[in-house]
Amino acid sequence: MKAHYKVLILGAGSGGLSVAARLAKKLSPKEIAIVDPAKKHYYQPLWTLSGAGVLPKQESERNQVDFIPQGVDWIQESVTRFNPQENEIETDSARKITYDFMVVALGLRLAWEKIPGATEALGKNGVCTIYEYDQVDKTEQMLKSFSGGTALFTMPPVPIKCAGAPQKIMYLADEIFRNTGVRNKTKIFFATAGKAIFGIPVFAEALTKVVQRKNIELLTQHQLISIDGANKKATFRVTDSAGNTSDQELNYDLIHVVPPMVAPKVVLESALVEKEGDQKGWLSVDKFTLQHKLFPNVFGVGDVTGVPNSKTGAAIRKQAPIVVDNLLNVMNQQPPQAKYDGYSSCPLVTEVGKVILAEFGYDGKLLPSFPVNPAKERRSMWILKRYLLPKLYWHGMLRGRA
Ligand SMILES: Cc1cc2nc3c(=O)[nH]c(=O)nc-3n(C[C@H](O)[C@H](O)[C@H](O)COP(=O)(O)OP(=O)(O)OC[C@H]3O[C@@H](n4cnc5c(N)ncnc54)[C@H](O)[C@@H]3O)c2cc1C
Repeated sequence: MKAHYKVLILGAGSGGLSVAARLAKKLSPKEIAIVDPAKKHYYQPLWTLSGAGVLPKQESERNQVDFIPQGVDWIQESVTRFNPQENEIETDSARKITYDFMVVALGLRLAWEKIPGATEALGKNGVCTIYEYDQVDKTEQMLKSFSGGTALFTMPPVPIKCAGAPQKIMYLADEIFRNTGVRNKTKIFFATAGKAIFGIPVFAEALTKVVQRKNIELLTQHQLISIDGANKKATFRVTDSAGNTSDQELNYDLIHVVPPMVAPKVVLESALVEKEGDQKGWLSVDKFTLQHKLFPNVFGVGDVTGVPNSKTGAAIRKQAPIVVDNLLNVMNQQPPQAKYDGYSSCPLVTEVGKVILAEFGYDGKLLPSFPVNPAKERRSMWILKRYLLPKLYWHGMLRGRA
């Protein structure tokens, strides 16, 4: 390992590896290093399907080492401090590494501490989540052994990663309850902190029809704020139409919890963080070029970036080539020229075999890849989600080919 690299990539998740694979084809791989302690890599979109027992969660897991591009150094340590004025980072082994250019791809952190009681309650007494790999099996067991009662599915304030997943698992749970014969003695509620079931009107309309068809009750402006696991009670902060808030306790027999999400602590405490506005607390980058607003030799990709998109792997597939092109522009003393349009996609699974493929960019602009009505549930989009996208991810995106 060296003490200086031309390009330092922080994080070897979807964003870090996608950028590394592309960059290693343009520069000498020896000039690039990736910093990440994680030995395993996960294709997280499969966790929704595994939580419902459609496929084993192990299908989402690979060894990180198999995806580090050949010749690129992999520093298996955590970044603990940024010093962008000196083009330097520090790791948990007190190693200091300097760089000419840096790509921050550290993802986000699940802020479980913002729901008091949740961490202690997880995995027992009907409290589950598909947002943690080690909870995915338990979610499947809880859904399949549910004997009826009240099932709550929660959605925190955005931004979160894959804002569709909290309701996808609910639709799959509804199907499981029908198959196990308990649906007629179960009430399902979707309690969302938001004002609507989905942020883009055309998809919100289609999803409203889905919840009506499935007899699911929608509770808007209901933000989960604590859980009493022993007594199976959840407290929500409810905002009424006049903007007044009150706290409301709901009893549950099963609750699927999605926590609020924040940037990793090391980013939050650094000079790289956005200090004001809608993107406060996330990596401060230009929403089109993905270049840092203060440090032009720094770029961001993926969930950590403070851009008004929807945080998904699909967004990263579009961001990675933009970051690489702009990085090369800047290396050649050119202004960054490639522009990200905010593209993101969410394959909204409404039951096994049916998906609404929501694709959109900044300001809710629809960006469909296929010439068909995007708000319709389709079997073809299920095939895309279940079979084609995982292949595209492992063999295309992480190899810098797609
Ligand atoms: C349940 C679920 C369902 C989803 N469904 C979809 C979907 O259907 N479609 C879709 O496109 N997306 C989906 N996503 C979202 C998608 O998985 C993420 O948006 C994507 O993985 C984010 O990639 P990233 O590189 O930004 O972060 P990650 O892939 O999370 O990687 C971050 C990396 O940074 C490393 N790291 C963190 N802190 C440090 C540190 N201090 N030092 C060094 N390394 C560090 C971590 O170890 C990790 O490897 C889903 C996610 C979940 C959880």
